Order: sequence, then structure tokens, then C-alpha cells
Amino acid sequence: MPIYEYEPIDWDCPMCENRVAVIQGINEEALKMCPQCGMEVRRVISKVSIQIKKPSGAGKAAEKGFTTWKKVGQGEYEKVDGPGVDAIIASEQDKKAVAEEKAAPKKIVDLDKP
Ligand SMILES: [Zn+2]
Repeated sequence: MPIYEYEPIDWDCPMCENRVAVIQGINEEALKMCPQCGMEVRRVISKVSIQIKKPSGAGKAAEKGFTTWKKVGQGEYEKVDGPGVDAIIASEQDKKAVAEEKAAPKKIVDLDKP
């Protein structure tokens, strides 16, 4: 399952350092509330976190018992900090599902189908 990142809308979040990583199914809807503090959040494209080795929030999140992972490859995540599992490796099936979702056009109206 992919990891999505969220950031608070319009304010600083003291609990999650303005960024929280959430593991979600690709078909799950984006969260509206921060799972850590309940504030309003929006999903962000997590390109930045792939480049940063250790996000500054990871250590503090770990102190509170939360785990942060970084993406190291297609469907593969390595733990940055926290009590969680050391790595997340998507199954071939998961990777395929993600790839297919990315490749798929947003909306198709198929008039031939009933
Ligand atoms: Zn928060």
C-alpha cells in the first residue's frame, strides 16, 4: 500500500511537524483530518520527502510513537524513524495496481458499455 503525506491547511501542526505520512490503499479517499491531531489537512505529493534523507519531523514523531517511512523504490519504503517495521515492500500485485492506476486516464466514458 502506498504512503501518502499530508500537511495542515493554513496552520502549523505542533504534533506532526506539519507533515504526516499515512499508509493508505490506492483506492482509499484522501484524509481530511490529521490522524495525529485531528486538524484539517490536505494530501501533498511527496516528492520532497524522497529526496530528504531524514525529515526533521521523523525523530519527534518517533518519540511520540509514530513511524515515518521514506520511499526508496517502486513500492518500497524504508523506515526513517519510529517503532514500526523496518521496511515496507509492496507485493508485485500492489506495484502492478499502482502502476495501472498511474497509467490509467482519469475518466473514461465508454459509450459502448451498457
Ligand atoms: Zn497534525
